[in-house]
Amino acid sequence: MARYIGPVCKLCRREGEKLFLKGARCMSPKCAIEHRVYPPGQHGKETQYKRGRTSDYNAQLREKQKARRIYGVLERQFRRYYAEASRSSGVTGANLIVQLECRLDNVIYRLGLADSRAHARQLVLHRHFDVNGVPTNIPSYRVRAGDQITVHGKSKNLPYFREIRNYMENRPRAPEWLSISLSSNGLEASVIRQPERREIDLPINEQLIVEYYSR
Ligand code: SF4
Repeated sequence: MARYIGPVCKLCRREGEKLFLKGARCMSPKCAIEHRVYPPGQHGKETQYKRGRTSDYNAQLREKQKARRIYGVLERQFRRYYAEASRSSGVTGANLIVQLECRLDNVIYRLGLADSRAHARQLVLHRHFDVNGVPTNIPSYRVRAGDQITVHGKSKNLPYFREIRNYMENRPRAPEWLSISLSSNGLEASVIRQPERREIDLPINEQLIVEYYSR
């Protein structure tokens, strides 16, 4: 599946908030949005961010774009996620966010095995992980309760995975719906259950996304 390959910080500046797309850099003073507080583009500086009330459509569009950008999903695939969420039982908006959260690249990021979702996506694409013993290089693979995630055979000897414990120290801990253990034999992670919407700490108002697609 295709992915966005343009400048990443521009996406945060477009949304007017940090989307944490670049890992450690997002926490450093180098973060672009810290010193360029205006939208990207030739007239960005003149327009600044719109304060106060904007149109309903604009609010819905921005929320949808923000969710897409956080999870690194392009429009066509995102629309498919929405269609599936609306067919499933339960609340469509919550279904949508839970589906996105269960993508394999996001799970690798949440486990603390990657610096950002983009980094996790690259690790998955390079076949560094097995799911239930099967090498899996599909970032959008949807994990289910009971799935076991391990580092693929030869990848265990790569310096990155040998030193993963050091990298993980500076990353957020895995959420309660995932478990991870590191031992001398390697790393074992599992999906305990599906996440609930309230456990997903993202600044997304999914109701606006539902309104956007229901127009
Ligand atoms: Fe966004 Fe991170 Fe770039 Fe800051 S450094 S603008 S949070 S991607």
